[in-house]
Amino acid sequence: MTPYMSRRAALKAGGAGLAAYFVETAVGAAPAHAGAATARDLSLALRGKVLLPGDPDYDAERVGFNTLVQHHPNAIVMVESARDVATAVGVGARIGWPIAVQTTGHGVSVPADGALLINMRGLTGVNIDAGARTATISGGVRWRDVVAAAAPVGLLPPVGSTSNVGAVGYVTGGGVPIMGRTYGYAADRVRSIDLVTLDGRLRRLSATREPDLFWAVRGGKSNFGAVTAFEIDLLPQAQVYAGNLTFPAASAEEAFRAYVRWTEGVSDQLTSVATFLRYPDVPQVPPQLRGVFVLLIRIVYVGSARDGAAEIAALRALGPSADTVAEIPVDQVDTVFSVPTTPGATPTASGLVGGLSDDGVATILAAVGPGVTLPAGFVEIRHMAGAFGRGPSTANALGHRDAEFLVFISNTVPDTVAPEPVEQAQQRIVGQLGPVLTGGRVPTFLGPLDTSVEAVRSAYDPAGWNRLLKIKKTWDPRNLFRINHNIR
Ligand SMILES: Cc1cc2nc3c(=O)[nH]c(=O)nc-3n(C[C@H](O)[C@H](O)[C@H](O)COP(=O)(O)OP(=O)(O)OC[C@H]3O[C@@H](n4cnc5c(N)ncnc54)[C@H](O)[C@@H]3O)c2cc1C
Repeated sequence: MTPYMSRRAALKAGGAGLAAYFVETAVGAAPAHAGAATARDLSLALRGKVLLPGDPDYDAERVGFNTLVQHHPNAIVMVESARDVATAVGVGARIGWPIAVQTTGHGVSVPADGALLINMRGLTGVNIDAGARTATISGGVRWRDVVAAAAPVGLLPPVGSTSNVGAVGYVTGGGVPIMGRTYGYAADRVRSIDLVTLDGRLRRLSATREPDLFWAVRGGKSNFGAVTAFEIDLLPQAQVYAGNLTFPAASAEEAFRAYVRWTEGVSDQLTSVATFLRYPDVPQVPPQLRGVFVLLIRIVYVGSARDGAAEIAALRALGPSADTVAEIPVDQVDTVFSVPTTPGATPTASGLVGGLSDDGVATILAAVGPGVTLPAGFVEIRHMAGAFGRGPSTANALGHRDAEFLVFISNTVPDTVAPEPVEQAQQRIVGQLGPVLTGGRVPTFLGPLDTSVEAVRSAYDPAGWNRLLKIKKTWDPRNLFRINHNIR
């Protein structure tokens, strides 16, 4: 094909021909605005639209849930099919623009400036196989759509604290479900993945097909390509015994000490989180709670209400000021964490913890307990181990399986306030927690401030990191999939 083939000829040649035309005009002819002009031509090869800076929907589609990172891609491809994804990746690869993928923007990392951004939210298919207890989930689906489809047939997807996040972003980062001590990491239960690699080919990955890539994508995030669909196990559970025990500041320290000791004896059917929460002092919060500190112990028991009640009896005996733990249908699991669904600038920090001695508990209380005034937001101490520690039958890139707890710090900052002081407060907390942190992290909880090589490497075991580097070199030697927590 010549660099100046006509649009008509390119259209006739189909997706690949048009992609080549797009590249040749953009790179070969190189008129001043070739990239922008030909990006519009790309739209002719797609079912979905291409948005360029200045287009009416461009801003709405580039801004994600976490507004801390504002990016300005060269073009946004609104894909509507796996074929669209393959065309977009192929074009991005030939032009040499970095290729970014976004579903909801909950998991932002580095800005996609100068990139070809593939917006996945048009890939919305969910298929539940009630007999096999699996879901096949398209690349732009949020967990809430899987919950809605699975709950009526008595199945529970491995959802995290909010079903508002994208299923692929969550699973490729590991995915820490609210029933994870029973189920394991979400990535541990993935059966197959459909991935578009840099050569623009759609590949089905499984334990037997492209096993190296299958290992890497389950934990290695979006470093290896764009996921158009995946298949995952569901739990046969129509209801869970779940809710919160609330302890006010006056009894929070005693309750947290008791909680940590209690976790040593609980069954793997019980997953729990101790949340140190400071309500924001804003009109949307009831007056009696504004600026107030509480300790919430969040409970998710996969089993009968009677057995669940027996497991948490020791916590109830501490006399919480509120107790919402009860049997709830699976489609109400979001009520356990009540995570806000309004976008905002949200710095986060995280880390893994080994076993907690009395000194370790004291370290946590000194850093984030009721005696410390922290910015509005929460510090979670999530109980891990159980199925998290056992690993899947087909190994994946996730490491640090010996962690006992996970710390996740999140503060949403109002638009009118600079985020830097909150980021500094989070780093101070991480510093104070140093004696209990292992230095490891979980990929899914890497945030916008964790984009250094050291931070990303800390989310894997050393051998796993070296293997990820090798696989990255094979499948993305130019590191075009680098708008993420980058393996480099
Ligand atoms: C309030 C809050 C609560 C959370 N709770 C939990 C929790 O309980 N458990 C847990 O494990 N995590 C939790 N997370 C983390 C969350 O799962 C990750 O941020 C996840 O990456 C979000 O995915 P997304 O698609 O919604 O976000 P996006 O920002 O759109 O994507 C995040 C990453 O995934 C990549 N990606 C998205 N879609 C695709 C695709 N189709 N193909 C290839 N790559 C893709 C993106 O390129 C990006 O690198 C929470 C996050 C927030 C903000």
